[in-house]
Formats: sequence, structure tokens, C-alpha cells
Amino acid sequence: MFIRFQKSTMNKKYDIVVLYSGGLDSKLACKILASQNLSVLAVKFLHPFSPDLMRTKTLHYFDEQLGVDVLEIPTDDDYLETILHPKYGYGANANPCIDCKIYFFKKAFEISRDVGAAGIATGEVLGQRPFSQRKDAMELIEKSAGLRGKIVRPLCAKFFKPSQPEIDGIVNRELLYGIRGRGRKEQIELAKKFGIREYPSPAGGCLLTDPEYSAKFFDAREHGEITFETTQLLKFGRHFRFRGRRIVVGRNRRENEIFEKIFLNNRFLIVPSVKGPSALVDEADDEILRFAASIVARYCRTQVNNYVEVRVFRKNSFVRSLKVAPADPIYAEKFLIRKIDKS
Ligand code: SF4
Repeated sequence: MFIRFQKSTMNKKYDIVVLYSGGLDSKLACKILASQNLSVLAVKFLHPFSPDLMRTKTLHYFDEQLGVDVLEIPTDDDYLETILHPKYGYGANANPCIDCKIYFFKKAFEISRDVGAAGIATGEVLGQRPFSQRKDAMELIEKSAGLRGKIVRPLCAKFFKPSQPEIDGIVNRELLYGIRGRGRKEQIELAKKFGIREYPSPAGGCLLTDPEYSAKFFDAREHGEITFETTQLLKFGRHFRFRGRRIVVGRNRRENEIFEKIFLNNRFLIVPSVKGPSALVDEADDEILRFAASIVARYCRTQVNNYVEVRVFRKNSFVRSLKVAPADPIYAEKFLIRKIDKS
């Protein structure tokens, strides 16, 4: 599934590799280093938990606004293992940020060696995130990745000892910053200074920090269902767990289409004969199919004599029709995988 980084596709050499998320802080890290006349490669790891379907194609291009080359590269299969069994545990939701960062740091460092760079840099800001950007956590990540003293942090370097590229005079420490805390005022000022006009809002890049996605993730993890495909399916629809089986019901037309085009595989597809959502079910006996059909009926706009007719397909072949009454909402809710309650 994943396309691994090919050394042969990267014969260009760089001074430094920046771990790049596309957010403002990592854009600033690129700009600060590029403004020192360093040749910068911004490496963006494409991971399965971005909000839309994950792209699996490696891209290498020049970003005009940043003035640096960007390498977008999908994570390898071993990334999911890291997320499933994090040594340092999960944050407030399903986000194992410390283990995830150790993984990214190690991979970025491998790439930095391949392109002849002096080290790696990040857009981290001290104290910006409670779980992974405390000083002790940042030092732990650095040490666990085997990169002690090798990471340049252009935005908050002043709170750390000089890194090796700074000691070696490749990066000019005098031109690095001392930003800390959760506010963004200083970064926004810097963005103006460096002419960065477009950047996304801080939240929204990783679904593992989303309570609803996290609930689905932990449920799938508990049932031993996490594969690359599952991580993508969890992004769409309402998910129910009934007699050990997952039932996914579309919330809009786009999701219904995505089910049919991407996730059909060996699953049952339930389609109502009136306007309403489609549903996907993994393995199912008659009771499970009827329950799934009743959930579909519950979300249909039109019912005839309180019944809805649905058609059941498998691998695009018609299997049977069912006539069902809509599920009682209170009963159905019992099986809904709900978002994590943090109260
Ligand atoms: S927010 Fe997501 S992608 Fe970012 S470090 Fe945490 S788990 Fe990894």
C-alpha cells in the first residue's frame, strides 16, 4: 500500500531537513532556515489520520511561498504499529503524540542522511502542547529517537542548549527565536515578517485528537480491526457495534458514494428504496442485517405504513430485499459508538 522513500529519486543534496506539517509553525521553521541561505528540504509525512482519505503517492516539488523543496511521503506500515502500541501512552484522545513524534523524528533523520543534510529541524514551540511540547517531553522524544543534540528548533532554540548544526556553524543560532506558550501572536508577527500569507488554523490536522474519531479508533483497536483500510473507514459515517459487528451508516450523499466506491470489498451494502442513507456491514447473519436495515430505516425521510424496504448487496450482487420498521432511537443509540466523554 505504501510507497517507500526511494533514495534514487532524491539525488539533490540539502543542508537541513525540516519536519513539515503544513501548519504555520513548521512553515516558519522553513522560512527562518531558508533565510540563512540554507538549502532546506521540508518533509511532510502523509499519515492515515489526516481528515480526508490518505494520499499514498510520494511527491517532491518546490513550494514558491516558502522558497523550499517539499517532499510529501506516506508513512510505512510500521507507523500503525506505533499508534496501536505506544510506549508512552495516549494523550487526551487517541493521540500517542510522544511515540508518533519519535517515529517521525527517526524517519526524518534517515532522510536527512540520505540527502546529506547536517540534521533535522522542527517548528516546535516550547509549552504549546501539554502532552508532547513540554521541555521534558521534548527532551525525551529527542533522546528516544537517538537524536540528542541533533534537532534544531528555530522557534524556541533559545530555551535549549545549542544543537550540533548550531555548534558546527551551519545554522546561525543568533538568528533563531525564543517563543514559548500556547498563544500565536509572535508566530503571526513572524509570518508577516516572512511574507507567509496562507496557513491553516492550528487544529484539525490529526483525527487522533478528535473525540469522535478516537472513540471509533479505540473500539476498532479493542476488536483487533485496525488496518490501514479501517483507519480510513472510521472517517466516514455513524458507526454502530451490534453483536460484535460494525455497522456504518452514511451521513450524507458523499459518504454513501464513498462506501460504494471505496469500502465495498467483501461487505454487505444496504440501500433503502426511498431517500436515505446506505449502510455497510462486515460479516452478518439475518439478525445483524435486520438490525442494520432498521437503522437505515430510522434515518430515511419517507416510510410507507411505518415500513421501509431495503435492498442488500454483496460485492455489487443483489442478495435480498427486507422490509423493516425503523429502529427505536433510544434502542439504536445503545449501539452507537459515541465520542469519548471527557467530563
Ligand atoms: S497530533 Fe497526531 S500526527 Fe501529531 S504528533 Fe500527535 S498523534 Fe502524531
